[in-house]
Amino acid sequence: MTFQTIVPIHPRVQTYLQSPRKLLINNEWVEAASGETFATYDPSNGSVLAHCARGGLEDVDRAVKAARAAFEGEWQRVTPAERAKLLWRLADLIEAHADQLAQLEALNNGKSYMGAKRGDVVWSADHFRYYAGLATKIEGNTIPVSVPQHLNYTLREPIGVCGLITPWNFPLEIAAWKLAPALACGNCVILKPAEQTPLSALYLGELVLEAGFPAGVVNIVTGFGDEAGVALTHHPDVDKISFTGSTEVARKIIAASAGNIKRLSLELGGKSPCIIFSDSDVETAAERAAFGLFGNSGQSCVAAARIYAERSVYERVLERVVDVAQGLTIGAGMADPQPDIGPLISERQLGRVLGYVQSGIAQGAQVCTGGGRALEPPLAEGYFVRPTVFTNTKPEMAIVREEIFGPVAIVEPFDSFETVIRAANDSPYGLAASIWTRDLSKAHRAAAALKAGTVWINTYGMFDPASPFGGYKQSGYGREMGAAAIELYTQLKSVWIAL
Ligand code: ADP
Repeated sequence: MTFQTIVPIHPRVQTYLQSPRKLLINNEWVEAASGETFATYDPSNGSVLAHCARGGLEDVDRAVKAARAAFEGEWQRVTPAERAKLLWRLADLIEAHADQLAQLEALNNGKSYMGAKRGDVVWSADHFRYYAGLATKIEGNTIPVSVPQHLNYTLREPIGVCGLITPWNFPLEIAAWKLAPALACGNCVILKPAEQTPLSALYLGELVLEAGFPAGVVNIVTGFGDEAGVALTHHPDVDKISFTGSTEVARKIIAASAGNIKRLSLELGGKSPCIIFSDSDVETAAERAAFGLFGNSGQSCVAAARIYAERSVYERVLERVVDVAQGLTIGAGMADPQPDIGPLISERQLGRVLGYVQSGIAQGAQVCTGGGRALEPPLAEGYFVRPTVFTNTKPEMAIVREEIFGPVAIVEPFDSFETVIRAANDSPYGLAASIWTRDLSKAHRAAAALKAGTVWINTYGMFDPASPFGGYKQSGYGREMGAAAIELYTQLKSVWIAL
C-alpha cells in the first residue's frame, strides 16, 4: 500500500527550510568560516530539503573557545537550581514546538510524523525534565578515612567542554540523551549532529536561545564526520566526547582521544537477540519481536535483529513475523494516512542493506518475504526496502553476525536453553536482548546469562530517562540515562583537610 497525500507542512517549518541553516556559536547563528554549505535530503524522495553550514576545523575551534569561555565564566555562576529551570524551560519549549520538531524529523529522517510527535519529541522533553530534577542532586560524599585528625570529602564537578556526536536514526532524542545530563552537570557543549539529519538539532538550538541559556553553553556545529567530527574529536581543548554511532567510527574516536586523553562514552552498534520460549505468549512475543525489528525501518541500535524461537513454536513465530512484515504499510514520514515504516536514511544505507540481503541469498539463506526495494510509485524515488524475513541462516553468515541497520529479520529455531544462550552471546555486540517465557526462574537465569546492557523480559524496546542504557562488549562503554549518566559528565575531586 502506498500513499500519495502529504500532511500539510507547518508554516514555520516551510520558512525554516527556505534559508540556509547556520551554526550556533556563542548564541549567534553564523556561517561556516569557509562560507560553504551542504545539502540535507528528504530520504522519501531524494530531494534536497535544506542547506546547512559546512562546519570545519575553524568553526569547531571557535565553538570550543566559546564553550571554554562560558565554562570558565558565566556558566560557573549559574546555580544548580537555575540550571534546572533552564532545562525545564527547554522541555516546555520542545513540547510547545512538537509539531515543528516532529515534522522536521519526519522530513529529514523519513520516520512517521505522528510517531515522532508521540515518541521522539515527548521522550526528548521527558529527558530534559528528568535531568532538570537531577541538577540539584549532584553530590559528593564525606569519606570515613582512617588518617587521624583529617577530614576527607569529595566534590563532584563538571568535566568541562564536551563534544556530543549524534547519529541520524533518532536525531532529536539522542541529542537530548546527551545534552540534558551534560548541561545538568554544569558542562558546556558542542553538539555535532549527523550530516544526514541536522535539522531538528538546529531547531532545538533556536529553543535553547529562547530558554535563555548563557552564550557559549550550547554550541551546534553541523558538518561531516570526517571534517567537523574529526576536528572535534582531535581538539586539544575538548575534555570529553560522547558518541553514538557505528563501532567503526568509535575506533577512530578512541584513537583521536589519545591526544589529550579525552574522556569518552560510546553507545555503538548491536545485533540484539530475541529469545522466544514455547511457554510464552507466543503470538505477542512474535509480534513484539517483529515490531522491535521493523520499527524505525530497522534503523535502531536495539533492533531485534536475531529472533530465536524454541523448535516447537518456531513455525508459528516465523509465520507471525512474516505476517507482520507483510502487513506493514510503507511510505514517507509525512504521508497521509501515516505509514508504519519509512525509507532508509540514504542511498548509501540502501546499498548497504541491499548488499546484506544479497549476501544472505547468495549464501543460501531462505527469504520468507521481502528481499528487495519497494519500487511502486512513489516509493521508487526514495530509499524504501521491503520488510524482509530470513530463515535457514548459518551462524557465520554476515546477515547473522553484522549489524544491518535495515528492516531485515532473522528467525531461527533452537532446542535448549544452553544452546540458545550460547547463540545469543555469540556476537561481538552486547547492547540489548529479550526473553519471552512464563517461567520466572528461566527468565532470571537467562537475564543473568545474556551479555547485554539491557535485557527485556516479556517486553521489548522499553526506555525511560531514569533507566541506564549502554552496551557490553563492542556495543560501547558508559551508561546514558538515569543517575548513571551523571558519572559520564562529572569528575570526582577528593579534598583533604587537616583538623
Ligand atoms: P552511520 O554509520 O550510522 O552513519 P556513523 O558512526 O558514521 O554512523 O556516524 C555517527 C556520527 O558520527 C555522525 O554525526 C557522523 O558525522 C560522525 N562521524 C563520522 N565519522 C566520524 C569521525 N571520523 N570522527 C568523528 N565523528 C565522525
